[in-house]
Order: sequence, then C-alpha cells, then structure tokens
Amino acid sequence: MPVTAVVGAQWGDEGKGKITDLLAQTADVVIRYQGGNNAGHTVVNQFGTFKLHLVPSGIFNPNALCIVGPGTVVDLQVLCEEIVSLEAAGISTANLRVSDRAHLLMPWHIALDRLDERERGRQKLGTTGRGVGPAYADKVGRHGIQIYEVRDEKAFRERVSHELATKNVLLTRFGDAPMDPVTVADGVLAAAAKLGDRITDTLTLVESALAKDAAILVEGQLGAMRDLDWGIYPYVTSSNPLAGAASVGAGIPPRAITRVIGVVKAYSTAVGEGPFPTELIGPQADSLREMANEYGATTGRPRRVGWFDAVAAHHAHRLNAFTEIAVTKLDILGAYAEIPFCTSYELDGATTTSMPPTRILERVKPRYETLRGWSRDLTGLADRAHLPVEARAYLKRIEETVGAPVGMVGIGPEREATLL
Ligand code: GDP
Repeated sequence: MPVTAVVGAQWGDEGKGKITDLLAQTADVVIRYQGGNNAGHTVVNQFGTFKLHLVPSGIFNPNALCIVGPGTVVDLQVLCEEIVSLEAAGISTANLRVSDRAHLLMPWHIALDRLDERERGRQKLGTTGRGVGPAYADKVGRHGIQIYEVRDEKAFRERVSHELATKNVLLTRFGDAPMDPVTVADGVLAAAAKLGDRITDTLTLVESALAKDAAILVEGQLGAMRDLDWGIYPYVTSSNPLAGAASVGAGIPPRAITRVIGVVKAYSTAVGEGPFPTELIGPQADSLREMANEYGATTGRPRRVGWFDAVAAHHAHRLNAFTEIAVTKLDILGAYAEIPFCTSYELDGATTTSMPPTRILERVKPRYETLRGWSRDLTGLADRAHLPVEARAYLKRIEETVGAPVGMVGIGPEREATLL
C-alpha cells in the first residue's frame, strides 16, 4: 500500500478535509503532520458538518487509527474540547492518539501571538491568534515543551515556572497581565490527564502499520503558498505543509510516501495577509465569496477570493510532484459564462511561470486566458464523463498548466459529491 499524502496546493482551505475524509474511509491510519489548531478542515458526511482543528479528518472511520503527529503543536485543552464535541455528536474518538514528542502549545503562546500581531500593527501577518507561530518559535529556539514532559509533574511545573519567568517580562512590558505558573500548569496537566494514554509513542504505531502494509494517509494543513520555506514569507505558517515535511512530521521514512495528492480549488482563496495576484475586489469578489460561502472555518473571517492561479499551483507541483490533483468546488464556477484563468505572470515587461519571492510577487500582473464556462448546475452528476464539455476543458487546462493529472473532482461539499 502506498502512503498517501494529501496536501494543499494553493493558499490553504482547498478542501483537504473533504478529500481526506473520503480517502479515510478505506485507510487504516490517518496522521496530521504539521500545524496546530489554526487549521479548520470542514468535513460534511452522514454524521453532519464538522470543523476539525486538530483531530485528523479520518476520525469518522471507526476503524482508522488517527494520529496527531510529532510535527504538530498541540493545545491540549483545545484538543480535549474537540474530542468532547465529536463525542457529543456520536463520533467515537477511541482511536485517537497524540505523539508524545509533539510540542505543547502553551497559554503564553496565545498571548504572545496576539501581542506580536498588535505590535506589528499595519504590517500584521493575519494569524489566527491561536499561538501556533510562537509555539513553533519556541520549538526552534529550544524553549519548547514536548508533550511527554507532563508525565513528570514536578519537573513539568518547574519548566512552566522557568519559561514564564521570561515570558512574563515580555507580556508585562507590552501591557499584558502576567501569567500564574500554577494556574497554567494546572490547566495543561488536567487536559493531559483527560487524554491519558492517548498520549503515546506514535513511531511504534506507524512502524507496525508500515510493516503490515497498511493504508496510511498523511494530512497536511494550509497550502504550498503558506509554506514556511516556499510560500510568501513572512505571510506564511510556521511549519511546512509540503509533502516533504510529512516524512518528518508524521515519522515516516521518505521513501514510503509514494502517492501525493495536491488539492486545489477550481478558483483561489486566501485568508490572512500577503500577495495574492489573481485576487478579485469589490462586487465581483463579494459575489464569488457569497456563492461559495468563503468564510474561514477557524475564525469566520471572510476569505479573499480570486481566479485560478496556475503559476501558484504549478509551484506547488514542482515542490510536491503530485501523482494526482484533486480539484474541489468546480460546482461554484457553474455561475460564470466565461472564466478568467491565470497561466503566467507579467513581471517587468517579461512573462514568467516561475513563482518569485514575496516582494517581487507583489509587483506581478496575472496574465489570463478566458475559458468558456458551462453555466450549469453540476449537482447530482455521478460520473466525470457527464460533466459539461466546458467543465472538462477547464479541468484539462488545470492538468496542462499545473503538470499533473486530475484524479478527483469535487462538485459539492458532501463526501459523495466527488467524481473519481
Ligand atoms: P481545508 O482546510 O483544506 O479542509 O478546507 P476548508 O474546510 O477550510 O474549506 C473548504 C470548504 O469547501 C469547506 O466548507 C468544504 O465543505 C467545502 N467544499 C469542499 N469541496 C467542495 C466542493 O467540491 N464543492 C463545494 N461547493 N464545496 C466544497
């Protein structure tokens, strides 16, 4: 069985949750390999509509082992709340495990995230304010606390006091209230106690799944344009959504990951700041946003919307080598008679299909082809062959410009509304 990675090929929110939920029906193991609860994967299935923040989208398959991988940063209290709300909806979370090497997202990370955005002022990054950036900063700066450390309560309390000694200086210097180490440690320890032996060494679990040739899915958060190294730095997430990071973040040798599904929306959206060349503004943007219900799953923020950007998706393909592309939300474009499709950028009078770094990307002008729309509702179609000829031509253009075959097409939010 190949290990399959499901990754975002745009700015995030491509619909990875739905694709993972679909593939998870036949998976034995589903692993989240990076990010924290800034993610908001929307899953619509027979159980209802769910917004998952930390729990892998495989949780709806009672037979799949779901792992919050070592590459993530975990707010244990938020994870407990997510478990409670899933259980309340009748979804068993008995098969959920959390890597004991993942880093704790501590309450001070949330405070520092908000403080940092406030101090950046107009240069703000547009983070979700959940503390994910500061948690990764502490991990890299060797101030992070790995989850296994809660097992030694005394040592953990000392770590919390020690870290807060400097964090509190920063917080109070910028007018925030200091945090009490006892209260902070109590909260985290209580959440850890609720999770009990779900907190475990996940390497052993993954290793034995690989040995049994089990079907393993690894699920990324956000997309290539928000990758820490290859995205629009500094308007990026603090980890690597690219499939390459799945190896480290899930604990799977790189040679094992042989299928990489790049998820793209049939148009583009972005949440947060930073360059977005094909962005629409004004009434055109409002109408696409409303039709497509483009509001953030975590924050409810209105998403920025624009036309499909093949330069961005091709950039993602160059870095991920997609074995296939999943195109979501094709149904939304049924509203247009003509659809602009960006195939290249104009930069200082020349044409390029290469993704330039951020400050240069801010200066490019998208070059569009106009593709014919199908002006039809796609609801209920059961076969790709039944798609209108214009819709098939649109998909063909995605394949040609991005460089990989389209393996799946979404024509509605429900799990079944996916043509294979
Ligand atoms: P993710 O973070 O990549 O999983 O993406 P989000 O969940 O934030 O955003 C995707 C949104 O599109 C969700 O509201 C999904 O229910 C919805 N969605 C996914 N695929 C389709 C599709 O093919 N058609 C329609 N209309 N909606 C879809």
